[in-house]
Amino acid sequence: MENNTANWQSFDSQHHLHPFTDTNALASEGCRIITRADGVYVWDSEDKKLLDAMAGLWCVNIGYGRKELADAAYKQLLELPYYNNFFKTSHPSAIELSKLLQEVTPVHLNRVFFTNSGSEANDTVIRLINRYWDLQGQPEKMTIISRSDAYHGSTIGAASLGAMKDMHTQGHLPIPGIEHIATPYWYRDGGDLSPEDFGLQAARALEEKILALGADKVAAFIAEPIQGAGGVIIPPDTYWPEIQRICKEHDVLIVADEVICGFGRLGSWFGSDHFQIEADLMPIAKGLSSGYLPIGGVMVSDRVAELIITEGEEFAHGFTYSGHPASCAVALANINILRDEKIIENVKDNTGPYLQSKWRELAEHPLVGEARGVGFIGALELVKDKSNREFFESAGDAGQLCRDHCFDNGLIMRAVGDTMIISPPLIMNKEQIDELISIAIKCLDLTAHDLGIVS
Ligand SMILES: *Cc1c(COP(=O)(O)O)cnc(C)c1O
Repeated sequence: MENNTANWQSFDSQHHLHPFTDTNALASEGCRIITRADGVYVWDSEDKKLLDAMAGLWCVNIGYGRKELADAAYKQLLELPYYNNFFKTSHPSAIELSKLLQEVTPVHLNRVFFTNSGSEANDTVIRLINRYWDLQGQPEKMTIISRSDAYHGSTIGAASLGAMKDMHTQGHLPIPGIEHIATPYWYRDGGDLSPEDFGLQAARALEEKILALGADKVAAFIAEPIQGAGGVIIPPDTYWPEIQRICKEHDVLIVADEVICGFGRLGSWFGSDHFQIEADLMPIAKGLSSGYLPIGGVMVSDRVAELIITEGEEFAHGFTYSGHPASCAVALANINILRDEKIIENVKDNTGPYLQSKWRELAEHPLVGEARGVGFIGALELVKDKSNREFFESAGDAGQLCRDHCFDNGLIMRAVGDTMIISPPLIMNKEQIDELISIAIKCLDLTAHDLGIVS
């Protein structure tokens, strides 16, 4: 096959069914083909250089082009390309990764169940929760409460836990036993309440739901510490402490979906460290391998693990590639780099505060109603009239316009409706942050101009 964009685009549109893509639009416009990457940049097949402020899909935490990870995969594939962890067997890279995860995750999480993705991790979460309450002799405690705007993955179980409308309508979801409550999205839903009061109110929606269903029916609450794909929704400080009080009081397990927040995104190892969440189960993926190879997992608390292990019967769940040797070797190399090079500390003390102060200045732009973020994650609310928090009538158009201007000007920023979001590689330096901000300002200007908004 000839290496040229037109051929590739043509074959792609004929033979490739894309995930989360408007295939009609794709066929007429042709896809953008990314061919190589280094550090915080990617290049397309026309050799256009783009600053990747999304770290791929929130995952390339250590940046592109780290040879250590390629070497780790190569070495492992020669030595032992595959063996499984079923039926009382194991292999060194899965064992070493389990131990390293025990060290870097919160203290009460000492075991990991390996999967290949965040979605499989969340399906595993459902299985673990059901198993736990069955073994506790409370099989009716099986409803899981999640939130609006949640994203937990794309398998049937994970999509049911999530709250994406199209996924539910197209998939006849959610499966039974899953309920959703409102999310702590202060800028959109907070009205006249202070963020603190709104955070408490949003948390108490969980208690109301538990009481309405009966605490003896509610198994668990699942939430991302900061919601990612829903639009980088950051809970007010009052939210998580109240959630924990409620879960404790009603004996409801807490699941912190750390697929985005984990491995340094917020300038802490985990979102649970940042918000001091004591999760019973903690799904991980994305930054676990910085996306170099697919791998996910569920960190399991002693409380849940002990019951499942001490009970004689086997836990009837697993994937052929649970703890794949090469993926584990790559994840090990990735975590070692995060740790040895103090990348997360640097985000916390140095580049994170720098990015956040520059990012917040964007709130002065006439199109931006709010600029928020923590560490290396951020969002901008594009609004019609920022003086009274008036959103655009046809939601999503402004976001698309801005996103397209960003691409044209060499910056990958994503739009969720009219919320622009970033989640850059954690190795982005101050000069590159300046570049990100200056392209963002230019594109906000262009978008405002298109929309006829002037300061
Ligand atoms: C991406 C994501 C998932 C799903 O992970 P996949 O690897 O795409 O299956 C689950 N939870 C959260 C919070 C995510 O952002």
